[in-house]
Amino acid sequence: MMIQAVEEYNDQSKEEDDEDLPRSLSRRQLLLSVIYFVSLSSFFVSSLSDSVYHQFLDLFLLLFFLLTRIIDESTGDAAVVDPVDPEKVIASAEEHQVKIKFVLTTHHHWDHAGGNEKIKQLVPGIKVYGGSLDKVKGCTDAVDNGDKLSLGQDVNICALHTPCHTKGHISYYVTGKVGETPAVFTGDTLFVAGCGKFFEGTAEQMHQSLCVTLAALPKPTQVYCGHEYTVKNLEFALTVEPNNEKIQQKLSWARQQRQANLPTIPSTLEEELETNPFMRVDKPEIQEKLGCKSPIDTLREIRNKKDQWKG
Ligand SMILES: [Zn+2]
Repeated sequence: MMIQAVEEYNDQSKEEDDEDLPRSLSRRQLLLSVIYFVSLSSFFVSSLSDSVYHQFLDLFLLLFFLLTRIIDESTGDAAVVDPVDPEKVIASAEEHQVKIKFVLTTHHHWDHAGGNEKIKQLVPGIKVYGGSLDKVKGCTDAVDNGDKLSLGQDVNICALHTPCHTKGHISYYVTGKVGETPAVFTGDTLFVAGCGKFFEGTAEQMHQSLCVTLAALPKPTQVYCGHEYTVKNLEFALTVEPNNEKIQQKLSWARQQRQANLPTIPSTLEEELETNPFMRVDKPEIQEKLGCKSPIDTLREIRNKKDQWKG
């Protein structure tokens, strides 16, 4: 399975503390639309928010074009994840002769579902999938936990209900041919070294989503999340576990990536289990440090601390 990225639009302003808040469409911010190429016959597109500038676009384009030869061999069924800028997504798909078959929406917030109506206008008959509990704008086909979709010959997608950030949040677990590394598109539930805010759910639900549902996927699974918050998240993670060498190393790497205008996404599930404080709440030393007696209390406490943390 080959996965790669592409384009962005909009503005440079971004406040550090507005992570994954529902935003109005008029709010100026940077969005990064990323095209993920999955196997030789299909690809995915997602959107990431970021605080970087237009040179990032150039680097993504460079990466993208380096992979063009693989795309040229494809026959071209495609799905797009959270396409906020459908016109660019469609132009890119046409340029590379791939055909968008459907949209996978992780949740109802505008910076994920905000392009659905437009893409329906531009691609007549396109299906738009979204969680049945989430009132996703433009949704044509609601999905529930365990629902399966297929794309092209080799790509299978399983909807995983991962609620809390929103009630009906869905993560999409994607597998390709035998031997290919799977991927999961986690929207605003699981970030690299972090998790989404608990807008519509409880610590119990986030624990189930992160530490049961997602944690059960194969460790090499590549994690594609909805926003590039990695450096800040790792800085916060170090406040929870100052002596965790994996966090220290990954923070150092992530800073280098960002300084070079390169992404920190994807991560892997294994890396998240080693560095993401929200997925490490079963560790007695972390529970003890926070004065908590259970993984769920610990998760709630870490989220509270992160919500107040100014970095
Ligand atoms: Zn969100």
